[in-house]
Amino acid sequence: MAGGTGIVLDERMLAHDPGRGHPERPDRLRILCDGLRDRPGLVPIGARPASEDELALVHDPALIERVAASAGRPCTIFDPDTRTSPGSWEAARIAAGGLIELCEAVCASEVDNGVALVRPPGHHAEYARAMGFCLFNNVAVAAAHLRRRGIGRTVIIDWDLHHGNGTQHLFERDPDVLYVSTHQYPYYPGTGAAEEVGEGAGAGRTLNLPFPAGFGDQEFGRSFAEVIVPICRQFAPEFVLVSAGFDCDIRDPLGGLAVTPAGIASMARACVELAEECAGGRIVGVLEGGYDLEAITDGVNVLIETLRGERTRPDPLTGDARRAGPVLDRVRTAQSPYWRV
Ligand SMILES: [Zn+2]
Repeated sequence: MAGGTGIVLDERMLAHDPGRGHPERPDRLRILCDGLRDRPGLVPIGARPASEDELALVHDPALIERVAASAGRPCTIFDPDTRTSPGSWEAARIAAGGLIELCEAVCASEVDNGVALVRPPGHHAEYARAMGFCLFNNVAVAAAHLRRRGIGRTVIIDWDLHHGNGTQHLFERDPDVLYVSTHQYPYYPGTGAAEEVGEGAGAGRTLNLPFPAGFGDQEFGRSFAEVIVPICRQFAPEFVLVSAGFDCDIRDPLGGLAVTPAGIASMARACVELAEECAGGRIVGVLEGGYDLEAITDGVNVLIETLRGERTRPDPLTGDARRAGPVLDRVRTAQSPYWRV
């Protein structure tokens, strides 16, 4: 029977192990597998390794070959934060391929929407460079795949704590992919200023909201309501992808933002409503970062409940909406040549 919320959850992605003490550890996925495997109401979507042709939609073949060459080797170092284990090549291809399969299932109306719980994460991976725990840019591969199968306009909404430099750069000259990012700033990886708005034919198709440490539910809620959703509506996406990182949670050990599950629920609700209004309900979330196991578990559950329509918009718990004013003024100034904001 068609309908429901699809889920990609595949233990083969546990085989990527960047080493003892690394925050992007297999336990992040293990705890989700244990908690969600038997959850009623979710439709399992079988993952498969992405092909090299699919990865090459957004990546340099030389990077693909370098990651492929890591297979079976104890450790290959891509940058100080990014290293592989013998199983990383397969895990990384399953992450990208699982997300493609989920997007296909949504396009074919086999499921209404879904979430791909994948690792390694993707949004820092550049055309020719693995970095920031990321080998291949899963969400970018999916967006490029959607275009190839006829989806005209895709929005990628990235609420991970970090700026998705890879995703921005892969699409910053592309008028058909709107990249939206909320992130702590200045912070790793250093990109994501409000004035980075896209280039050439892609001018106005990058929307950055750089937030100081301490921003929480209220600032995120106001930003979605006043800037993100209005611009996305004007763009009128045919598909909504969410780079769902949960390191923006107040409990995360790497970040300084202060979002709670109530804030995640509010952002997820805004994304679902945007998809319903513009994209025939087509929305898929993909796991990016998040390094506190309870925060990831809570965030993923909130996202799933929102996709399933089980959750109403909760009251925000943290932050102060007025503090968002100066950042939103800068964003409006940068975006005003392209959108009514
Ligand atoms: Zn992150």
